[in-house]
Amino acid sequence: MSNIAKRRVGILGATGTVGQRLIHMLRNHPLFEVSALAASDRSEGKRYGDVCQWKLPFEMPEGVRNMPLFPCKPPLDCDVVIASLPSDIALEAEAAFAKAGYPVISNSSAYRMAEDVPLLVPEINPDHLDIIPVQQKNRGYEKGYMITNPNCTTIGLVIALAPLQQRFGLEAVMMTSLQAISGAGYPGVASMDIIDNVIPFISGEEEKVEIEPQKILGRVAGGVIESAPFLVSAQCNRVPVQDGHLESVRIKLAQPATMDEIREAWTGFTGVPQELQLPSAPVQPIVVRDERDRPQPRLDRDAGNGMATVIGRLGRDTILDYKFTLISHNTVRGAAGAAMLNAELLVARGML
Ligand code: NAP
Repeated sequence: MSNIAKRRVGILGATGTVGQRLIHMLRNHPLFEVSALAASDRSEGKRYGDVCQWKLPFEMPEGVRNMPLFPCKPPLDCDVVIASLPSDIALEAEAAFAKAGYPVISNSSAYRMAEDVPLLVPEINPDHLDIIPVQQKNRGYEKGYMITNPNCTTIGLVIALAPLQQRFGLEAVMMTSLQAISGAGYPGVASMDIIDNVIPFISGEEEKVEIEPQKILGRVAGGVIESAPFLVSAQCNRVPVQDGHLESVRIKLAQPATMDEIREAWTGFTGVPQELQLPSAPVQPIVVRDERDRPQPRLDRDAGNGMATVIGRLGRDTILDYKFTLISHNTVRGAAGAAMLNAELLVARGML
């Protein structure tokens, strides 16, 4: 794949938390180069380096510093659009780009649950790309199309669930999250609210996590994506951690499984990205830790360059069948890295 001419990427929401991660991940990428940046009318016409409040612990890539910021509407000088916009803005902007002929890879919730839009996790449901011709027909897109990636709390959860659903079937999932502040974007939660505190409410989050895993683990049938039938109950909390969403999970399986079988299902889990050695694919999508006090945000969020889900604390549950704890990097695997892996899969599938 490294000999293919680089695809030119336009980033919508380039100045934001996810946009910055995307710019960082796209530096020296073998398949992509950043060709256009867009943000709100507060930033339009200005230079990226002058308006972006760069918050990553790496230098801003020199190549973007002097790039101008465009409005989030077509045309944009690029082959593919990666969007990380507030969902109300994304609703109009993403459809406008798809209509204008651009492949759109979205981080927002605007189209995640639409039955003709893939909610793609390349290790789990690459076959959901088969819905794209239906989407193009439904929406009158000639060349363009939309694909989405999951909410940053859903992704770690669904990666942990996928091998269990495949081998044993799932009946019920209960999840309590401890979510990092970067998940709220910048400036996000006020420091006066989050220091020395936990906030047991994240607007819209529980509702998303309770329906997205079933769509990702569902199937394409009759021109729609049908969700898998198991139930998810979620409680989401914001905690004073910079990056990395920790999740305490309890599951009820459809068929009995031993602890060793569950562990093996996780450690043996790989998919198309690993087979194709896509540039952003973690070698091991799931890392299992046996120490009694892992995973932890600071120690485990960067596993597999922030693309792996780290699971620990597997044990029998007294009410459901099993319980465990996982961590997933919310702005990498939960956003920018997920979009990158999706884009890499599109190249591998000849769709870009
Ligand atoms: P953010 O830090 O608040 O950044 C928002 C971006 O959108 C900025 O570039 C901003 O540009 C732009 N924007 C805001 N209003 C706009 C408008 N009216 N028109 C055009 N552009 C506008 O947010 P974020 O955390 O990066 O999140 C972006 C999206 O990704 C959201 O849908 C979020 O739910 C989703 N997401 C975030 C995470 C995460 O961990 N942070 C994870 C998964 C998904 P200006 O700088 O010009 O205002």
